[in-house]
Amino acid sequence: MSHIEQKRLKALRRRLRAWFQRRGRALPWREASATSYERIVSEVLLQRTRAETVATIFPSFIETFPDWQSLANASEADLEAFLRPIGLWRRRAKSLLAFAQHLKANDFVFPKSKEELLKWPAVGPYVAAAIAMFEHGQSAALIDDGVARLLDRAYRCRTRADLRTDAALRELATSITNTRDSRTLNWAVLDVVSAHCRPRNPICGGCPLAVHCIYLADVRASTTK
Ligand code: SF4
Repeated sequence: MSHIEQKRLKALRRRLRAWFQRRGRALPWREASATSYERIVSEVLLQRTRAETVATIFPSFIETFPDWQSLANASEADLEAFLRPIGLWRRRAKSLLAFAQHLKANDFVFPKSKEELLKWPAVGPYVAAAIAMFEHGQSAALIDDGVARLLDRAYRCRTRADLRTDAALRELATSITNTRDSRTLNWAVLDVVSAHCRPRNPICGGCPLAVHCIYLADVRASTTK
């Protein structure tokens, strides 16, 4: 069962879209001309790293490795050198290379099914969702620690510590982003996390989830006691 009824869900999506129009971040992989390759690579790099940090190396990375073919043919050392400024460079280089080489061995064709994708090297639920959305044009939910924090604060939806196996969290995130403009809604949610729902001292003023946020209601109740 989703934590939000349909009417509230639609209103939430409207608020997210309106917020994103005003405050969404302009990032290189979000430009209209960005390819699905650029968008998928960006999501791999964005895990555990701020978008603004990834954006500092992204244009030169894409200039040097403009497609899956060039990435599959890269050396691990070259990739590490590029990725060093954003941290976790060894792990990221290994993952990107393993994935690109696997894709090359598959004639650069992505599997359509999520189950099949999850068997590929370096693919977890987050990257599988990115591929579904950017490569296949499907709706999907990008769920990282920040998104999990936001949804749990707003709706108290978490049932497990591991967000990969938290069915209630995944169902809620999916219900919000299961639309034709899934991409926009995912970007909006990620940007709301960055702008408002930080790990400490969330900035709740202007947050599009504030109307029904349980965490905020609790804070308000405790300060009026
Ligand atoms: S209202 Fe505050 S705590 Fe609730 S989701 Fe928004 S930023 Fe997070």
